[in-house]
Amino acid sequence: MSLRAKIWEYFIFFTAMVLVILWFLQIVFIDNFYKGMKIKDVKNVAVEIAENYGNDDYSLMLTQLAISNDICIDVADKYGRILYTKDTLGKSCLIHGPQASTGNFLYKLKNSGETELYYTEFNQLTNSDMLIYMTIIGSEKSPDGYILINSPLVPVDATAAIFKKQLLLVTVFLLLLSLIISYFMAKKISEPIARITKSAEQMAAGNYDIKFDGKGYAEIQRLSNTLTFAGMQISKVDAMQRDLIANVSHDLRTPLTMLKAYAEMIRDLSGDNPEKRNEHLEIIINETDRLALLVSDMLDLSKLERGDLKLNYSEFNIKELLEDIISRYKGLSDKQEYDISFEADSDITVNCDIIKIQQVIYNLINNAVNYTGEDKKIFVKQINKPDCVRIEVSDTGEGIEPDKIKLIFEKYYRSENHKREVVGTGLGLSIVKAILKKHGYNFGVFSSVGKGSTFWFEIKDIAGKIPQQAPEKPQKKNLFKKSEMSNYNEKS
Ligand code: ADP
Repeated sequence: MSLRAKIWEYFIFFTAMVLVILWFLQIVFIDNFYKGMKIKDVKNVAVEIAENYGNDDYSLMLTQLAISNDICIDVADKYGRILYTKDTLGKSCLIHGPQASTGNFLYKLKNSGETELYYTEFNQLTNSDMLIYMTIIGSEKSPDGYILINSPLVPVDATAAIFKKQLLLVTVFLLLLSLIISYFMAKKISEPIARITKSAEQMAAGNYDIKFDGKGYAEIQRLSNTLTFAGMQISKVDAMQRDLIANVSHDLRTPLTMLKAYAEMIRDLSGDNPEKRNEHLEIIINETDRLALLVSDMLDLSKLERGDLKLNYSEFNIKELLEDIISRYKGLSDKQEYDISFEADSDITVNCDIIKIQQVIYNLINNAVNYTGEDKKIFVKQINKPDCVRIEVSDTGEGIEPDKIKLIFEKYYRSENHKREVVGTGLGLSIVKAILKKHGYNFGVFSSVGKGSTFWFEIKDIAGKIPQQAPEKPQKKNLFKKSEMSNYNEKS
């Protein structure tokens, strides 16, 4: 059932309920209600008559009361003898007519043992009910007199008939009104929903950048904001997935093609030439390494991102670790003339996951080796600060453009102009980011295009006492000028 139909249904139901209650009250209770009112009026008149019994101008007062209330009044003395008769109803008065006898009525009252008595009687002359009311004047034991009042109930029926007619009009009017209001209300409510549905359909068709418009209601606005946000997220994931497939397939295809080409070459050409064969086999091994690196990076990152990776904290000397890592590059630096310099403050013990931090340092130095300039210089620094140990890895390469600097820590981001010789997966810095975030360490990069980049992070978990700082050394000239530097850092 559509929202429109449902709202219409509720509205009609509500109106019908209101009408039923109204009708019920009017028809069932109006008679009793008016009769009650009439009795009350008549009683009030009787009280006035009783209170003024025997006063001057009593007769005049009775006449006025009879006329103003449109009733017949009889007042009898304590023996039941009629003293006053005020008759405004003429022949239709039930207590006076030819068959009526005041004595009969008073006899009924005396017999009842009550101080007052009333009932309705049908009057054939007026074709309507009439109220007959009687009561005593003075005390119950020795009454001073009696009052007899006859009041027509005609106006009750007449008024009720008018009300019924009016109610019929109101009913028709209300039903029409509820129909119109519910139509517009449903339209107003369902419009933004219809709009959102249309946008959602477009999103389902693959257009994730669609904007949801839920103007009209706070709830619908919130829904549309959430959907817009979800669309953005899906769009991001979609783009990332596309990137991932493009990157991975590209990264897989190149080494695979090489593997195939060189394997074929060994089979067809160089199989018997040990020198050539070894050269080709070396290429096959390198390409296999490249593949293995890609796969292990992907596994690492997915593990880190799933968040089910536990850190194994242990205490170790960070300076020794850095020296150890740098010495392992020695082979590389000797052969390819890379110059990795290490500058460190005093020994310091830190408390964190040594394997993961090692991976961070490796990734940073690897990148520096890959992207450093012609001079093949790389600088590693360990700076002891009062509340942390700062590690910096600098190179003298091309640097990173300011608009790219935010992107390099994203998964699979690789600058378009990276060279094929640079072994990389575009995952290295995402792994660095994930590990440092997991530890809660601050990290960042500042870079100057054409001059180089410095990647840094700060280990906050220092074991034991922090060694006294050496007196400020004169600040070495910075590698780059501040004005041409772009900067990115993240606080964990
Ligand atoms: P990969 O190095 O495998 O491409 P990374 O995640 O390590 O992946 O780096 C992402 C991108 O950041 C690189 O493609 C490169 O463009 C840029 N980058 C990383 N380190 C440096 C650096 N030291 N100098 C210049 N650019 C860098």
